[in-house]
Amino acid sequence: MQIIPPALERLIADLARFPGIGRKTATRLALYILRRPAAEARNLAHDLIHLHQAIHLCSQCFTFSETDPCTICGNSSRNPRLVCVVEEPGDQLAIEKTGAFRGVYHILHGVIAPMDGIGPAELKIEELRHRVQSAAVEEVLIATSSTVAGEATASYLADMLKTTKVRLSRLACGIPMGMDIKYADEHTLARAIESRQSLASS
Ligand code: ZN
Repeated sequence: MQIIPPALERLIADLARFPGIGRKTATRLALYILRRPAAEARNLAHDLIHLHQAIHLCSQCFTFSETDPCTICGNSSRNPRLVCVVEEPGDQLAIEKTGAFRGVYHILHGVIAPMDGIGPAELKIEELRHRVQSAAVEEVLIATSSTVAGEATASYLADMLKTTKVRLSRLACGIPMGMDIKYADEHTLARAIESRQSLASS
């Protein structure tokens, strides 16, 4: 006997696919949406439908944006010669919150993880090489996480860029080993940016 009506069950199944949301939380959220006025559910549906229509990747830094270039790439007060490479848009937001970085970004959209079938070709790595070679970039600050995959990606990028004239740096101390950038507190992250360390080419 089906206790949960099919329409509600479908919503629960949809919500349960979100990261960190189990079936229990999905059920709570679905019931909450159901109890609220129908107009709120319609607004939510409208926002979801228009999300992919409105938001695209910035053609320069590959962050999510409604404009191209994005507001950071298009801001003339930012330094386009200093490029901070991050894994995800969430990491970019964390660094922006510190206010300690005045350069621009390059979003990889992941890290190299061979076990998951993610190689350099699946990320915006070739785009980074092209950007460094074709634009007047002076420094690349590699701000991938200090996880095993983040460090492996940083090494790959450093190796790829060592033949270019660009200065390479890495976020400094303060970020605990194995930590995701976006979970670091603002103060620690700001200090790590300010005291970034040069990656000497070998
Ligand atoms: Zn951009």
